[in-house]
Amino acid sequence: MDFTARTPYDLNFYLWGYPVRVNPFFWIIMACIGFRPGDLQFMAIFALGAFVSILLHEFGHGLVAKAMGCRPVGILLYGMGGLCYYEPRRHLARWEEIVISLAGPFTNFALFGLVWLIYQPLIPFKEATPLNLILIDFYNVMFFVNVFWGIINLFPILPLDGGRVMFNLLRYVNPLKALEWAALVSIGLVLILGILYIQSFGPGPNLVLFAFLLFANVQTYQMSRSQYS
Ligand SMILES: [Zn+2]
Repeated sequence: MDFTARTPYDLNFYLWGYPVRVNPFFWIIMACIGFRPGDLQFMAIFALGAFVSILLHEFGHGLVAKAMGCRPVGILLYGMGGLCYYEPRRHLARWEEIVISLAGPFTNFALFGLVWLIYQPLIPFKEATPLNLILIDFYNVMFFVNVFWGIINLFPILPLDGGRVMFNLLRYVNPLKALEWAALVSIGLVLILGILYIQSFGPGPNLVLFAFLLFANVQTYQMSRSQYS
């Protein structure tokens, strides 16, 4: 199944030089992650917060790449998160690739910093009015999506942004072995984190994510072996 395929329900718009497309599964998956029994409002707040945060994350990558002379191709939000496509018009240096990768998560940290600043005059919320409850939920969602996911995204695991940073750092050491090594580190870390997760929370639906990352890296490892050895 192609999760990135076009559908008649896509939301399309154009922003800062990039055509943006939002696949309907983006909203469905985000509302599911924000699932609270009987609380449709929180699911909507979660989907909206995730939309703004992941969109700006991709623009973090995209605008830095554009500033480095890449041609903007498009930004896609879909069931697995976000993707930013751009076309380098020249060979990008490793440090430039690293800066582009870091620009995503650091945009999230900056965005949460901005939310935190805006909330300062409002905190602590004294009354539990409906508006205050929405504002509190939104603040918590923005913390979770921008700070918690932002830190996870920096883990040295492919294809997360931290994994791409690790790969480009390893290219300084050995360009031919970098992908193989990056896949091995990713496999080891996913296994360790997966075991820690099961020990702490027991088996749960989040293990699908670990399985996906493990499978993707075993594939990358096998591919890099067959290419370079
Ligand atoms: Zn990213």
